[in-house]
Amino acid sequence: MKVFKFGGASVKDSGGVQNVLKVLQSEGVKEKLIVISAMGKTTNAMEIVVKKYLEKGNIGEALQPVKEYHNAILSGLFGNKDHPAFGEVRELFRELENFLQYNRSTNYDFVYDQVVIYGELLSTTIVSEYLSFCGINNNLLDARTCIRTDSTFRDAQVQWKETQAQILSQVNRENLTVTQGFIGADENNFSTTLGREGSDYTAGIFAYCLNAENVTIWKDVPGVLNADPRVFENPQLLEHISYEEAIELAFYGASVIHPKTLQPLQRKEIPLFVKSFLNPSNPGTAVKKGQPILPKIPCFIVKKDQVLISLSSLDFSFILEKNISEIFSLFHKYQIKVDLIQNSAISFSVCIDNKFNNLEKLLSHLKATFRVNYNTGVSLYTIRHFDEKAVAALEKDKKVLLKQITRETVQLVAIP
Ligand code: ADP
Ligand code: ASP
Ligand code: MG
Repeated sequence: MKVFKFGGASVKDSGGVQNVLKVLQSEGVKEKLIVISAMGKTTNAMEIVVKKYLEKGNIGEALQPVKEYHNAILSGLFGNKDHPAFGEVRELFRELENFLQYNRSTNYDFVYDQVVIYGELLSTTIVSEYLSFCGINNNLLDARTCIRTDSTFRDAQVQWKETQAQILSQVNRENLTVTQGFIGADENNFSTTLGREGSDYTAGIFAYCLNAENVTIWKDVPGVLNADPRVFENPQLLEHISYEEAIELAFYGASVIHPKTLQPLQRKEIPLFVKSFLNPSNPGTAVKKGQPILPKIPCFIVKKDQVLISLSSLDFSFILEKNISEIFSLFHKYQIKVDLIQNSAISFSVCIDNKFNNLEKLLSHLKATFRVNYNTGVSLYTIRHFDEKAVAALEKDKKVLLKQITRETVQLVAIP
């Protein structure tokens, strides 16, 4: 059995959905499970709906473009408005509006998960109906009945035992299953999400639980490149890399693979392929056990919009284990993701990702004990397998605030 994942870019319009069919036809439709994200930028649009809702703004206005976008895709695929897919999509919007009307919670993370998951429910409903329409028999599986998680909304942790049991009892291995990426449910059956871009991780979870032969994530790039093509010129394709390399690249911010995806795959040595959905017969990148990186060239990664915080003691006392452990328990409390740490006798610097918007709370807490300096909007640049030329090229035209070098990796926190 094989697992495929199609991201937002691959199903951003009706042509994209038709291309999913083409890929399946060339790869075979039997013994497949396909994980699908929300179409195009729908999750961002849903985030606006959540914001408007909690600000008691005009939700109708925020939802309208999402409805129009999905209706345009439906029309492109089915033409005739009589097709049941139109009614199913209407029903999903009605369900969402119902939630918004009757919900009383003002907890942002909870509301977020109950709303944004409709992006994935809409996309999979449309794709599943379209495949059936084209004569391809498939089962639409609600991932929330399989991906069982704790109740950490927006960053839910998978409960592996229950998830495995559900997947094994629900997935028909012989057939084609269509399911949602990114979403799960907690023990009260409230929807949860696995973190932005988490659909790749869903593919990893299903593959692990099903002992899949391999996983392919279909992208709008030829595979894993040695640099983010949106930021760096002339990126080159990596033909193969090890799990460790892929985890490092993803962790430092190579957004082509969600960092959590590799862990379950690596545990069972399930190969991962990253391929272009536009050129499915090209080999793309293979991520496998023990494969040295090929070609061995410097890899450039950037994480934008990070925060550099520097703490020093108010009385010039040393920053030691006790302070550091207190600082880290605050990071944990405020869901701060730490990317890089550097310390000296009386100062401690950390580059963080303020994903959960808790920076203000964290800073006011820290200011009670430390002198605090911070820069928002900085970038964290990482070069794996660096050489002097690569570092010099990266440092050019940047104000470097912090630099760290280890055997394989150089990291810079810099403006811009
Ligand atoms: P999806 O459609 O699956 O959501 P994403 O947009 O999340 O796809 O990820 C693919 C994008 O990741 C590419 O279009 C590319 O701009 C970006 N990207 C960043 N780093 C890399 C890299 N090292 N290799 C390839 N693509 C990268
Ligand atoms: N739709 C979700 C997001 O945009 C999950 C994903 O695409 O992987 O973050
Ligand atoms: Mg994505």
